[in-house]
Amino acid sequence: MREVSDAKPRAPVAGSAVSEVCTHLDSIEVRELPPAIPGCEDCLAIGASWVQLRMCQSCGRIGCCDSSPNRHASAHFRAAGHPIVKSAEPGEDWSWCYVDEVFFAI
Ligand SMILES: [Zn+2]
Ligand SMILES: [Zn+2]
Ligand SMILES: [Zn+2]
Repeated sequence: MREVSDAKPRAPVAGSAVSEVCTHLDSIEVRELPPAIPGCEDCLAIGASWVQLRMCQSCGRIGCCDSSPNRHASAHFRAAGHPIVKSAEPGEDWSWCYVDEVFFAI
């Protein structure tokens, strides 16, 4: 007699992903923020506003966060396939992988 386990993989819960690991670190080309950031490039082009800024760590593009109306950082991820953004906010030093959905510091 044996028991049949139907254990399902648990869905990740926000805030509990500390053990998750990003497998895209070799895609990082840009580690430092530019010295001056005028704002989200796409928002500036259309006259929109944003909440916070993120920098693509593959190409250095500045985009706005998912709390912003136009979410240009994640739009850039979907369009370009660049998985990792770094916070461009003063005093913040974390990165986020859109694929693995994990925060980390580099
Ligand atoms: Zn990743
Ligand atoms: Zn934007
Ligand atoms: Zn990029």
